[in-house]
Amino acid sequence: MLTEPSRPQWAGEFAVCPKCGADGGFHLVLERMHESTEPAAKAYLKCPSCKELFDIDIKLLLA
Ligand SMILES: [Zn+2]
Repeated sequence: MLTEPSRPQWAGEFAVCPKCGADGGFHLVLERMHESTEPAAKAYLKCPSCKELFDIDIKLLLA
């Protein structure tokens, strides 16, 4: 189970950490969605600086 992610309001591009201001982009954290009817994963963004986890509603379909 992942740490409870933040759900930030955002528009345009999400490239700067809203918590610490780091502007180098994010790491990607994947969590397989077992409850899904198709092979899918939830994707979270993790700040490489402050380690905050963000959920901006990314879902990936797996091949
Ligand atoms: Zn940060």
